[in-house]
Amino acid sequence: MRAAILAIGSELLGTERLDTNSLRLTAALDRHGVELRKKSVVGDSEAELAAEVRALLGRVDLLLVTGGLGPTADDVTREAVAAALGRGLHLDPEVSAALEARFRAFVRRMPEVNRRQAQVIDGAVVLPNAHGTAPGLRIDTRWEEREATIFLFPGVPHELEGMIADALEPWLAERSAGTARSSVTLKISGLPESEVEERIAPAYEEFGRESITILAGGGEIKLIATAAGPEGERTARLAVMADRLALLAGDAVYTRNADDTLEQVVGELLRQAKATLATAESCTGGLLAERLTRIAGSSDYFPGGVVTYSNAEKSRLLGVPPELLAEHGAVSEPVARAMAEGARRSFSTDYGIGITGVAGPGGGSEEKPVGTIHVAVAGPGGRVAHRRFRFPGGRERVRWFASQLALEILRRLLLDVSRPAGSTADPGQVAKAVESLWR
Ligand code: ATP
Ligand code: MG
Repeated sequence: MRAAILAIGSELLGTERLDTNSLRLTAALDRHGVELRKKSVVGDSEAELAAEVRALLGRVDLLLVTGGLGPTADDVTREAVAAALGRGLHLDPEVSAALEARFRAFVRRMPEVNRRQAQVIDGAVVLPNAHGTAPGLRIDTRWEEREATIFLFPGVPHELEGMIADALEPWLAERSAGTARSSVTLKISGLPESEVEERIAPAYEEFGRESITILAGGGEIKLIATAAGPEGERTARLAVMADRLALLAGDAVYTRNADDTLEQVVGELLRQAKATLATAESCTGGLLAERLTRIAGSSDYFPGGVVTYSNAEKSRLLGVPPELLAEHGAVSEPVARAMAEGARRSFSTDYGIGITGVAGPGGGSEEKPVGTIHVAVAGPGGRVAHRRFRFPGGRERVRWFASQLALEILRRLLLDVSRPAGSTADPGQVAKAVESLWR
């Protein structure tokens, strides 16, 4: 079964409101393994709506429509769908009586405009709305030699939720025979999207291009593998896909759980290694410390950090030699290294992270353009890893990427020390990769 969702409302075409009803409807489709082919948003125009209904019916077997069932003149879904199907509308006495009863129950007189909501498309099944006045409708029809079903649901989100549960789910369950659609998410940090794409290319051939999605954003990449089918079969297939993708993407994959964050995974690795971390931040202004402390219980491995924005404080709080600052400037490898070592020393931790850079929009130079970031991680044995990067984008993005990178470098260094559960990586390879980071 192929489905489409049509969200109706002129407000959804503006800048104030986003169509979220389709997300609820999509989740219901997923629970029953129905493939969503298309989503549309149309304003409150009868002609536009009728045209879109006809276009969508040409492509799918199930059309889910939300909105425009209200009593006011701009609610034209009933009329538009009737016109698209070439059917009439009639006043349904039962619906009309139920509407009046509902108003009486709230001790109100029913305004005459609400009578419109008792208009039913000829041949439609009325779907009671337990949370509002507008009933939904289900229309079974033939379209271009195929059977098709249209559901009309109200636009008010909580009314829609009720009707998904009461009307849509049971209808889908009867047809899906235990089939569902679900996915696993692998999260990757520290690799550009194109490189991830290159690495996992074989999986496209093996599992089908449409079953794998790459999503980039916020300095990380999500690989989403999707499968449909009965429970056992589907979970087995997802496990195979996840294993294969993890193997192809390598240790850049930091989790197989969509809800895990990088700071959480790094925290877990620190805990497993029984190691502690301190931070020294300049251009990120404490963002890294903020992210680390989002995790409850992080005081077990994160005693604290400092924000040293001025050169004077870099020297006073972290012991960065003033000559070093004078010679190389605050945004430089030697200063990042000294900050990392200073944090590690001041807090007596196993690891120290130093971040310094030009977040912009001003302050860039030819030698150190906006977006230049130095991240250093000082570790046991007095070793220090360092990376220099240049990130595109505005101040917020540069700062976020810097914190992301710092976490990712530390994660890589820790892979050698604490074996993450379920890791399939070759220990020799990991050790080699970590060794190259320390330089
Ligand atoms: P109904 O069919 O229940 O009468 P309606 O579209 O006629 O709905 P509106 O007054 O237009 O009623 O919308 C009711 C509320 O629901 C508004 O706040 C509207 O923004 C919201 N809404 C409508 N459609 C959606 C949608 N697709 N996603 C999120 N909110 C929506
Ligand atoms: Mg509306």
